Amino acid sequence: MGRAGNNGGAVSACAADAGAKTAGAGSGRRAPSFERGVFTVSLDFELMWGSFDSPKFEKFLAHFGRAGGDAYAETRGIVERLLALFRRYDVRATWATVGHLFLERCEERAGVKHPEMPRARHTWFARDWYEFDPCRSAREEPLWYGRDMVLKILAAEPRHDLGSHSFSHVIFGDAGCTREVAEAEVRRCVELAGELGLKLESFVFPRNRPGHLDVLREHGFSVARGEAPFWFAKFRSRTLRRAGHVMDDLLAVTPDCGLPLKSADGVWIAPVSMFLQSMDGARRLIPARSRVRKATKGIERAVREKTIFHLSFHPTENLCFRTDEMFRALEEIVAHAARRRDEGALEVMTMADIAAHCERRAGVCADEAA
Ligand SMILES: [Zn+2]
Ligand SMILES: [Zn+2]
Repeated sequence: MGRAGNNGGAVSACAADAGAKTAGAGSGRRAPSFERGVFTVSLDFELMWGSFDSPKFEKFLAHFGRAGGDAYAETRGIVERLLALFRRYDVRATWATVGHLFLERCEERAGVKHPEMPRARHTWFARDWYEFDPCRSAREEPLWYGRDMVLKILAAEPRHDLGSHSFSHVIFGDAGCTREVAEAEVRRCVELAGELGLKLESFVFPRNRPGHLDVLREHGFSVARGEAPFWFAKFRSRTLRRAGHVMDDLLAVTPDCGLPLKSADGVWIAPVSMFLQSMDGARRLIPARSRVRKATKGIERAVREKTIFHLSFHPTENLCFRTDEMFRALEEIVAHAARRRDEGALEVMTMADIAAHCERRAGVCADEAA
């Protein structure tokens, strides 16, 4: 983590700009960007597209392919349960969806999978990027297609923010993803959304590694999720980073709550505060109540500081292990946020809402400066 990626660098904050007018002489005043704390949920909706180039792939294939399992029913069931939970508490979320999940099916052309898509060349994956794409249909291969779920999310109440997580989960912040690849990925997502009458505004970078913000801006995106400022992210060793993450969750350390910054390319960056960890591997040793305590502390911090507590997870991959327990934990978190909202202490916003709010504030900043 911590890589700036392409164009992932210079940022300015509306809040800081406004504060700068009076900040001189060390007064340090920062105009509050939000009248209340904010609770944001963003979901990386990707099924197998997020893991086919990583060791996690085998784990998910084993889980979903197990004897007696029904991957279609399980994945669709989780999405419907999530939509029902959000409806119960009137909470809107950002569903950053891999573009390939907008498809009901796909097929090879002259023996080539997706010949229209230029390929990313990531050093850790020597095969063709689409090698595992089954080129069949959602019914036959439910872990690679999701048009049925995209339509359900779009039809759900309250109205969710359907965003993008690239077309095929190429890593924007890696040198193996050229501008040409990023452009084709984003353009394809915008086209597929447009066919459904949808304008994409929110983007979540695969593996949370930012890059090619100018491409996002050109295609009309207003906001992207920022990298996590986690203390353990600075460890070079992956093992240490993981151990740090587990300790952080186990001890329910209060998460960072930030304010959005505007990139030099004009895209708002909304930093993430907490990833809701799944209950498999070493993470199953973290009790569900630690996750709830951590998130609750984050919500209260956002209320106190009038900042954003931004919770994120992968709907199907993070909730497929010990599903009932995970849903109970998630419901406690969402219920806490909803209660604080009903008391007037908190607002629930999607990533697109955050960008719209910041644009309005930026207008106010400009007016004040005039
Ligand atoms: Zn395909
Ligand atoms: Zn992802």
